Amino acid sequence: MGVGVNTNLKSTYEELLDRAREVSDLNSAAAVLSWDQSTYMPPGGAPARARQIALLQQLAHQRATDPALGHLLDRLEQEAADWDPDSDQAAMIRVARHDYERAVRIPSDFVAEFAAHTSHSYQVWTQARPANDFTAVRPLLERTLELSRRYADFFPGYDHPADPLIAETDLGMTVATIRPLFAELRAFLTPLVQAIVARPAADDSCLHQHYPEADQWAFGEKIIRDYGYDFNRGRQDKTHHPFMTRFSAGDCRITTRVYEDYVASALFSTLHEAGHALYELGIAPEYDATPLGHGTSAGVHESQSRLWENVVGRSRGFWEHYYPQLQAVFPTQLGNVPLDTFVRAINKVKPSLIRVEADEVTYNLHVIIRFELECALLEGSATIEQLPQLWRRMYADSLGVEPPDDRNGVLQDVHWFAGPIGGSFQGYTLGNILAGQFYAAALTAHPTIPAEISRGRFDTLHTWLRENIYRHGRKYTTAQLVERITGGPIRLAPYQEYLTRKYSALYDL
Ligand code: ZN
Repeated sequence: MGVGVNTNLKSTYEELLDRAREVSDLNSAAAVLSWDQSTYMPPGGAPARARQIALLQQLAHQRATDPALGHLLDRLEQEAADWDPDSDQAAMIRVARHDYERAVRIPSDFVAEFAAHTSHSYQVWTQARPANDFTAVRPLLERTLELSRRYADFFPGYDHPADPLIAETDLGMTVATIRPLFAELRAFLTPLVQAIVARPAADDSCLHQHYPEADQWAFGEKIIRDYGYDFNRGRQDKTHHPFMTRFSAGDCRITTRVYEDYVASALFSTLHEAGHALYELGIAPEYDATPLGHGTSAGVHESQSRLWENVVGRSRGFWEHYYPQLQAVFPTQLGNVPLDTFVRAINKVKPSLIRVEADEVTYNLHVIIRFELECALLEGSATIEQLPQLWRRMYADSLGVEPPDDRNGVLQDVHWFAGPIGGSFQGYTLGNILAGQFYAAALTAHPTIPAEISRGRFDTLHTWLRENIYRHGRKYTTAQLVERITGGPIRLAPYQEYLTRKYSALYDL
């Protein structure tokens, strides 16, 4: 790297990179095993696989908390005192220090206890959800809440007990910064949803026909190739719950599921996960296997998946180009369905019970409910016992629909059964807000982007995103990225304008 004047055989900085690479390689090896577990592993492999993944994670944690790493960082911070704070090297040390301090504050027996608890609670949830049995998970959730509070207490000095948990996924954001943003969004969305619901409902029956799997698969892959997803550095496989995973700068994979009786599921999940992968693949290659070599936050990550899925992939211009191709693949299903009908179908707004099936407009109301519940539980202003009833009341208030049972209510999401209570949901809605803000900034820089999208060209947008967001990895936090790009803080207005313009046209508002 040629940094500083160091006569040692290996500079302190290079030593840091060596150590970071080992931690990263152990985590990546665990990720490969997890990917295999979710795609190809036969059920008989499960017990050994859980053990193997846990061992690799434990080794990674040991190396990440090695006191020698702390001493190395102490030395390096002295050496680097006069380095340019905006240099990659300074950022590398800053982020490595942050990761180290966070890791050493959490005792390894707590890590093990939490992992054992969530793996048990996940197993119980997989039975309890179909059985509609909240009482089976209630004591487990109570323990999760207690463990989540204990986690927060490893970081004393917080304003809100959710803050240390939010810092895990969206560093720099806090309850105090998120709450006003979400309150403003909710005040905007509620009348918008009411106005849409008062209009004639969109007819989406064209999406619910028989669509053979192989054709759906090939069509989705064609589009993400056009987006710029590089199959020499990635691949797509089948799974139950779609995800993206990074093993290295040269291998960022996506997964999806296909329903032959509903064409929108696989297609938009492919576009969504490809958005996550474009972000990871766009990170500067020299950051690979370093502390900077990942997307910076849940919110910025989700901004990219939602941008490629919704802002681009559900736009009318996009389908002006791709709809004739889709009709050619599915002539009996779509040959007689006009473009406008199809575009309205894929953008149908309808308040519903299940978050992952929600449309672009009501989706945020689902997320805000969960965020508020996480805060209330951690504060102690709500109890686990009250959770199903609170859930029903909040759905009735926010969305005008009430789940008939817990299966379609509080039991629907895996998050609280496989991880902490706190920090799990805010990133989804922050992502939508950021997607609006980033896209507006890209259009200001390149007003031709919409016209290019309607010709199936994405290079200008992709290049702008890579230069302004992707390449930086974790060098900047969410707020710093937004500041660099827009000259100001996170703002709701561009996202509101995007929704207003799009849905006024679709629903004649
Ligand atoms: Zn996502």
